[in-house]
Amino acid sequence: MDIHFLGGASQVGRLGMLLRQGPAALLFDYGMLPGKPPQYPIEAPPIDAAFISHAHLDHSGMIPWLTSRHATDIYATPPTLDVADLLLADSLKVADAEGFEPPFSGRDVEECPRYYQTIEFGETVEVNGLEVTLHSAGHIPGASMFEINGPETVVFTGDLQTVSTELVLGAKPVKCDTLVIESTYAGRQHPDRLKTEYEFLNFIESIARIGGLAVVPAFAVGRTQEVLMTLARKRFDTFLDGMGKEVNSIYVEHHGYVRSTKKLRQAMNRTRIIHSPRGREKALGAEVIVTTSGMLDGGPVLRYLDAIKDDPNSALLFTGYQVPGTNGRRLMDEGMIELNGSLVKPRFQSRYFDFSAHAGHDELVEFIEACDPKRVVLMHGDNRQALADALEGPECLLPVEGQWYSL
Ligand SMILES: [Zn+2]
Repeated sequence: MDIHFLGGASQVGRLGMLLRQGPAALLFDYGMLPGKPPQYPIEAPPIDAAFISHAHLDHSGMIPWLTSRHATDIYATPPTLDVADLLLADSLKVADAEGFEPPFSGRDVEECPRYYQTIEFGETVEVNGLEVTLHSAGHIPGASMFEINGPETVVFTGDLQTVSTELVLGAKPVKCDTLVIESTYAGRQHPDRLKTEYEFLNFIESIARIGGLAVVPAFAVGRTQEVLMTLARKRFDTFLDGMGKEVNSIYVEHHGYVRSTKKLRQAMNRTRIIHSPRGREKALGAEVIVTTSGMLDGGPVLRYLDAIKDDPNSALLFTGYQVPGTNGRRLMDEGMIELNGSLVKPRFQSRYFDFSAHAGHDELVEFIEACDPKRVVLMHGDNRQALADALEGPECLLPVEGQWYSL
């Protein structure tokens, strides 16, 4: 078997891995790297099928290019495909607003569902002599790992979380010969999840007690739902704004992908949804607002931050990693934020809570050892050597984009 990364081997983003065995050619993930300008992977050749691990755009963002260019069948779980549709349409709006030419059209996005083949965890499909079985990757609801059975067994993890969260149960190891694994957190650890949740709730309580407003920017897919489920443990007056609303409904519709649909539904019932400018006005008098975008580069969050910028009793609670160059990262590093086109030093408090949906360094090592592979291929990371150094036993491969490797 041979593999070739079209993107996303030595960096986080625009992932795509081709796998060839005899006449069979499969593609695993095909995403973009959102940014200014967005970046795309190397152009994929015609292939038998593409398997998409999950809906985040760095894994799914090029689906319409594949279907419009090569009429490729796209295999993924039902929630992955539904959420991907939402994100792909949104990516065109973002490209338009920022003045970048996208690699596909609105019509391509509308037509790609014709090529969708839904597949569930535990199911196997055969494509041109290769068998592919899906397993949960624990990252977000519907996120899959792919077990490919040919002359040897290869597992491709996509994004991986082995720790169980409110939203999804952690991934279980799969025995294989070659493990292709993400390494986003190579060399970095996460704090204990339960402790993070406890501190998050305590901080919001302290803000509510002094009459402040807690604004929680959260990615629409996965993070928003987890945050709402965590908040539901307390009786905060919570509002939700942004695209997380639609994603909630998709996750509730598809049974068996969230840890407890009942709990997610309860959390949604305890949350007031913002539909209008009047709703936004009302939310400013609440205790918590959960909204997008997660890195403060647009979305309703900026309106709320503008409203609390002079209030030292209010707070901003980061729930995700802030990519360098984003508005959120600037606030974390320099205490300055861009609001309405000007740079301001806000007076609200801000704190970071690690709700990561990726396995940390020790969890990655533990997972690799339990899969017991002869060979490990480290991808999706910019500090892969730290993980390679921690592994004893398996042969370790750190591929670069654009080269073929024989397994
Ligand atoms: Zn992801």
